[in-house]
Amino acid sequence: MKLETDEKVINYIRGAIKDAKNIVAVIGIEMLVEGGGYDLDSNEETYRAETLYGYTPEDMLSASFFNAKIERFYRFYKNEILTMDNKSTPSYEALIKLQERGKLLGVISQNFHGIPVGVHFKNVVELNGNVNSNKCIRCGKRFGFNYMRNAPGIPVCDQCQAAIRPNIRLIGERVNSNVMTAAVNMCEAADVLLILGKNMYNDRLEYSVDPKQKQLKILFSKEETLNDRKVDFVIRDEIRLFLPAVID
Ligand SMILES: [Zn+2]
Repeated sequence: MKLETDEKVINYIRGAIKDAKNIVAVIGIEMLVEGGGYDLDSNEETYRAETLYGYTPEDMLSASFFNAKIERFYRFYKNEILTMDNKSTPSYEALIKLQERGKLLGVISQNFHGIPVGVHFKNVVELNGNVNSNKCIRCGKRFGFNYMRNAPGIPVCDQCQAAIRPNIRLIGERVNSNVMTAAVNMCEAADVLLILGKNMYNDRLEYSVDPKQKQLKILFSKEETLNDRKVDFVIRDEIRLFLPAVID
């Protein structure tokens, strides 16, 4: 298997993972893309969405759009978000291996599609909510994924007829403060932080760690360069090729 990353860097990271006790994985869009999803933030997807819906994904996933144009929101959300694949990949299998060895402190998911079905992490923080969780905006009754997907038009509560809202963080909203605290605490306790792709909110959660603390930060990104961010390494290889190569 040919990796683009320098052999020395691969060996260094392999050694660091072997010695680590508290690895934290921050799951981002690239993990979703590897599992069959797509990057709504990419140029092609932005263009495609604008052509199809008249707005960009960023516009349509905003809190103001949900409040003002709920019908259009749901047209996009049901067509694009709820149909997106999110399958397990060799990247997830590698993380499960770390968990079995007692090295994985936890996982922070930045994707609101959640962790793929069949992958079981003991400790997960879903930073930006989850499409499987939905709530009536009036009475608070909860609804699952299938109810939302099968509802015609705007999904409404079967008790009070009010609209239902997905429990995801819309753009322009803040992360729930309890969830944020859990994520920050987890990041701070990590000796190795694997940042597996970007998020669509332009957050820099994973860099909130005290700079005096010894922590190896590895960012997986095809787009960013090392100078852009405060990380030790930027890996450009695909996560699903790289992780199994350093977690054997
Ligand atoms: Zn209701």
